Amino acid sequence: MHETKIPFGERDGALFRAHEVENGLRCGCVCPGCQQPLNAANNGEKVIPHFRHAKSNDCFDGFREGVRRAAVALIALHKQLMLPALSETVRVATQGGRLLEEKVELRPVITTADTMERFVELDGLRGHAVLHQSNRQLIVRIKLSARMEHERYRQIEALEHSSMEIALHHLTLEQINDPVSFEHAVLHDPANRNWIRSIRGERLLAITEQRLQSLASELNAQWHLEQLKREAAEKARHSALDEEKAKLQLAFEAHRVRQLQMASEQPTIEQDNTVPGRAELIAGTMLKALQAWGGKAGECTACHLLSPPVYRFCLYCDSQTSKVNQLVLSPDIALTLDKRMRCSAKPEMSVKAAPQLVVRPDIELV
Ligand SMILES: [Zn+2]
Ligand SMILES: [Zn+2]
Repeated sequence: MHETKIPFGERDGALFRAHEVENGLRCGCVCPGCQQPLNAANNGEKVIPHFRHAKSNDCFDGFREGVRRAAVALIALHKQLMLPALSETVRVATQGGRLLEEKVELRPVITTADTMERFVELDGLRGHAVLHQSNRQLIVRIKLSARMEHERYRQIEALEHSSMEIALHHLTLEQINDPVSFEHAVLHDPANRNWIRSIRGERLLAITEQRLQSLASELNAQWHLEQLKREAAEKARHSALDEEKAKLQLAFEAHRVRQLQMASEQPTIEQDNTVPGRAELIAGTMLKALQAWGGKAGECTACHLLSPPVYRFCLYCDSQTSKVNQLVLSPDIALTLDKRMRCSAKPEMSVKAAPQLVVRPDIELV
C-alpha cells in the first residue's frame, strides 16, 4: 500500500502534499523516486489525499524517497532533534562469584545543531542528515523499511561519530499528511528512534565499567586475602588431623608391645576358641567389669570382650580395625548373664573376627 500511494509529489525541486495541489494530472508533480508524472487524488471525502503514478510502472521508491526527503527537510529547517534514550547495564564479575551491576541511562533530550548537511556520502553509505555541533557530528538515518539493516549498521558503527536512526516506516498516510504529527514523528518522538552508536553513551559505559572494575579489584584483593586465610586454616586443620592420626598410631603400636608383653607373662594354656568357650569369656569380662571396674568397660567391636575403661584399644585381640565403645553395665545384668549369652550372636561374631586372642582375659579372679 505504501508503495502505490505516494504522500509527496515533487514540483520544481519542492515537495507537496496531495491536498496542496490541484487534483489529477493538473497537479504538475512528478514522483520523487522515478521522476515520472503523478496523478493527485485529493477529491472526495473518503479519499485520504495522495499521489499515484500517472502511468503504472515498477517504481517502488515514491513513498520512501518522498517521506525521507520531507523528513530531512524538516531537520534542516529546525536544526533540532530529540536524541534517543539509552539504557544499558554494565556487569562485572568478581572472583568471589559476585556480579556487580550498574545501569547507564541517557534521557532523551533535544539537541540543536550549528549546521546540518543533507544526504552525505560516508565511506560508501549515505547519512541522510549529518548534524554538526562544534567539532562533533551526528549521523542520522531515516528508516523507511521494516527490514533490519545489520550490515549497514556495522558500517556506520565503524565510523568515529555518533549515529542514530529514526524509524518512519510505520507512519500512516494520514499521519504523513498532517504536518503537526509528521513533524512530531520526525523531530520529537522519543519512541521511534534509537542509537546506532552513541559516543557519549560509550564514554559513560566505559567510566562505569572502570569504576566497577576498580571496585571488583578491591573485592578481589579482599577475597584473595580471605582465600589465603581459608587455605591456611584448612592446612592447619589437616596437619592437626595428621598429628592426631600419628599420635593414635604411636599409641596403638605401644599398645601392641604391651599386649605382647602381657601375653608372654600369661601361663601357656591351650585356648578354647569354640563359640561356647568365647561366650564364657565374654560373660566373664562382663562380670569383671561389674565387680572390678564399677560397671564401666570398653567393648571391642571385633571380639566383643570388655576391656577396662582406661583402654583405648582392645586388650585381647589384634584386630587392626576394631573400635572400643565405652559402656556402662547395669548391676542386675549378672542375674541374666547365662541366658543373655545363649541367645546372643556376639560369641559367634567374636570367634569369626578374632579366632585367636593375643591376651587371655584375666577372669580367674571372678
Ligand atoms: Zn516513482
Ligand atoms: Zn578385641
